[in-house]
Amino acid sequence: MTDRLTGLGTRARLKDKIARLIVEREADPAPFAVAIVDLDGFKPINDLYGRTAGDGILKQAALRLRAALDGASTVTRIGADEFAILAPMVFSASAARQLATMLIEVLSAPYDIGARSVRLTASVGTSIYDDMAETTEGLIGKAETALYEARRVGRNRVVVYSPELVEAVHSVTRIEQALRRAVSNGEVEPHFQPIVALDGGHLLGFEALARWNDHDLGPVSPGLFIPLAEERGIMPDLSRLLLGKAADAARNWPRHLFLAFNLSPEQLVDHSTAREVLEISARSGLDPRRLEVEITETGLMSQPETAATIIGEFKRAGVRIALDDFGTGQSSLGRLRDFPFDKLKIDRSFIASILNDRPSEHIVKAILAMCAGLGIGAVAEGIEERAQAKRLAELGCRMGQGFLYGRAESAIATTDLIQSRESRRLAELKRS
Ligand code: C2E
Ligand code: CA
Ligand code: CA
Repeated sequence: MTDRLTGLGTRARLKDKIARLIVEREADPAPFAVAIVDLDGFKPINDLYGRTAGDGILKQAALRLRAALDGASTVTRIGADEFAILAPMVFSASAARQLATMLIEVLSAPYDIGARSVRLTASVGTSIYDDMAETTEGLIGKAETALYEARRVGRNRVVVYSPELVEAVHSVTRIEQALRRAVSNGEVEPHFQPIVALDGGHLLGFEALARWNDHDLGPVSPGLFIPLAEERGIMPDLSRLLLGKAADAARNWPRHLFLAFNLSPEQLVDHSTAREVLEISARSGLDPRRLEVEITETGLMSQPETAATIIGEFKRAGVRIALDDFGTGQSSLGRLRDFPFDKLKIDRSFIASILNDRPSEHIVKAILAMCAGLGIGAVAEGIEERAQAKRLAELGCRMGQGFLYGRAESAIATTDLIQSRESRRLAELKRS
């Protein structure tokens, strides 16, 4: 009943403790909580730094959990990187949420492994015993369902079990199956959103954005199916499909227009990524110097060394690197020094508020000054109004993207758009 590595109880101990507590509470009715904690991103760290480092992290996590809990609670290790907590003194969903939030905080502090330190986040699912008919297995299963949902909505979260969750989980499984089918039938399409020069509005390139219109489900948002594809291991196939189609389209555009393609975080921990991307664009006959990959800071964090190698391979082939969604999440100025970015995309949350919120304007100004100093291009994302574009241009921002200039459109519509813009531009050139 004891785990050798951490000295914590095992799953058998957890079950035993819950069963006893259920019996006690029959005589003295009061709720209690079960929480399952999962370390996000543990596996890649284990693979990268080795078993000993991984074991060290698990031991530190076990100590932290024990130290953070009251004497009445039990901590157990029920899977490689999963811990379960039985909290007899937690009587409500809101108290369970509070406890879980505290545990995530405790687990998020850096872990020392040898000379370096790494950071992890955690996801927690909890269930509450508030029904005398509830069983040990039932409580653990509900906490697992909640944990599953916490991972699905983006990790580093707490989810407390509720009956509605079951419905959500089932529908996710349906979407997953439909997505696998769509990917193998080649039914997910890249659409293309223009990126323009703020001065004059002429086209510079396009960002490929995935679109999926399923036969049965109708249009599904990339905000839902991209994370799902990442979670279920569908992303490599999906990304290959999208890049192939996007490169086929971009090959026929005028040569001065670039294609920006999003890489997901897990692709930056896979050493074959650069080679694959370059092979696909070569097969389409797209010059790599017209290709730009967009990556996020999340993608750089889990394995900075691997990401740096991949980025190096891209740069040598002439592919440009853009840092996406800058200003949200885990922004670090150090990263701008450590990686050779060509462009930085300022997240649309700043652009949306730039006209009526002084802090946003100051932040954008500072980002632009920094980019100018570092010799990095800056693109403002999510421009919807003329006044925003004007203000950004005044602040020295040269490139922009947003509904004001166009939404993402199909490959065919994009070719039409390019033709009409180019002929207008040529006419203007002739006149001047
Ligand atoms: P992103 O890379 O930040 O892409 C920009 C998102 O902002 C797109 O949402 C785009 O439609 C939206 N957007 C552009 N202009 C405006 C605007 O003026 N106002 C507003 N409100 N929104 C604007 P979309 O297409 O829903 O994509 C969401 C996210 O999904 C993308 O965010 C990207 O992270 C991911 N994604 C989409 N396609 C791919 C792909 O092929 N591969 C990967 N790895 N991720 C993708
Ligand atoms: Ca992007
Ligand atoms: Ca973005």
